[in-house]
Amino acid sequence: MPLQIHQFACLSDNYGFLARDLASGQTACIDTPDADAVLAALTATGWALNLILNTHWHPDHAGGNAKIKAATGATIIGPQEVEKISPLDRIVVGGDRVALGETEFAVMDTGGHTLGHVSYYSAKDQTVFVGDTLFALGCGRLFEGTPDQMWSSLSRLADLPDETVVYCAHEYTASNARFALSVDDSPELARRADAIFAARARGEATVPTQIGLEKATNPFLRPRALAGTMGLSGQSDETVFAALRAAKDGFKA
Ligand code: ZN
Ligand code: FE
Repeated sequence: MPLQIHQFACLSDNYGFLARDLASGQTACIDTPDADAVLAALTATGWALNLILNTHWHPDHAGGNAKIKAATGATIIGPQEVEKISPLDRIVVGGDRVALGETEFAVMDTGGHTLGHVSYYSAKDQTVFVGDTLFALGCGRLFEGTPDQMWSSLSRLADLPDETVVYCAHEYTASNARFALSVDDSPELARRADAIFAARARGEATVPTQIGLEKATNPFLRPRALAGTMGLSGQSDETVFAALRAAKDGFKA
């Protein structure tokens, strides 16, 4: 039986996620941006929390751990770096597996935004929770890792099947689209950007996205196609990716 996902907005631009294994009724929350918002989502759904799965140590991802554990008794699982702000019951690294009832998440090393950042992938459900690594039309800032590390992480995500549904932790899509349009004149991107601006004007979420759509239109997954525009023809994907990331850091829409 599949995974049921409840997505909710919280803080200024975060998304929180509850994921429920329908076979067993076991429920996980992916990151804890806002304890009160997560607890309210549990009340609204009537689901009882079993696991907290952290992607990385930033307070808008692990800051609610203590309050949610106190309220629910959930087991906290995450990469070791989370211990900077919250104790963990189990430390995971890329290649580990986490069971939620009949659902199995593969832990993927997706470092770069932070050094120990991980993502949680259920192949059976074609679902991946990517925290602040991959965004709709964007990618996370490199606070701790190198461009090479982030490019490896994004490449691992891009290798997942095109149909994989991608749950990103922030609604950054409209500003990502403005940057993407500044480096890529493909008609497919222009069409997607129009749809995004219209959705945001209606107050709709643009998350989740899908791997295939990101591979076709996200500039950070298309360094080969954008090397010429960036004045870096013939350079490596890592080099072009690094230039794109640096350009985005300095971009004012
Ligand atoms: Zn972060
Ligand atoms: Fe974040």
